Amino acid sequence: MKDFETLLKGSGEAHGHLCPGQVVGVKMAMEGCRLIGLDEPSILPQIKKLLVYVEMDRCAADAISYVTGAKLGRRSLKFVDNGIMAATFVNLESGRAFRIVSREEARELALVLAPEIPDKRGRQMEAYKRMSIEELFDIEEVRVDVPACDMPGPTRFKAVCARCGQMVRDKREIMKNNEILCRPCGLGSYFQPINEQGKENVPRRRAQGSQNPAL
Ligand SMILES: [Zn+2]
Ligand SMILES: [Zn+2]
Repeated sequence: MKDFETLLKGSGEAHGHLCPGQVVGVKMAMEGCRLIGLDEPSILPQIKKLLVYVEMDRCAADAISYVTGAKLGRRSLKFVDNGIMAATFVNLESGRAFRIVSREEARELALVLAPEIPDKRGRQMEAYKRMSIEELFDIEEVRVDVPACDMPGPTRFKAVCARCGQMVRDKREIMKNNEILCRPCGLGSYFQPINEQGKENVPRRRAQGSQNPAL
């Protein structure tokens, strides 16, 4: 694996800026890979052995993805929306996994460890660089049972939504009243259709209103 400074420079470029999150994320990823015995995780053959779960969608997640090569599109990066500054590194070959959590105490330490640097952001970055792994993180070995439908590789599971006909991959369909449904149909979603095509899914109040202009 490349050295810390080289990885930090690269992750800052990929992320768009250098920030305390890049420092923490690069350190977290380097330690995670070391613990599960991968020294070149971002290239073959090791790239196929690694799975990373990140529990936040903040700066550090990009650094972790950059260092490990784990990507959403490869299915090697899993986003678990816990709002916790933590990541778990899984070696699919050996089955070993470690969850690394950023310590809240490190945030306080980051403000006082490099007093010679005037701006807060620079001070935090330098402090995170100086901190030991023990000061930065709580680490525990864990077991992760990765379901077959979460594994990288070709799609093995497909289902069709009984309501809208949408193809649903990787067992993300749900069963409701004995019907196979996609999640938007079965659970509702983050979006609300506003065109005629989608009016079946529009809440009743809005669907009635939208009929008038067409008539
Ligand atoms: Zn950032
Ligand atoms: Zn559907």
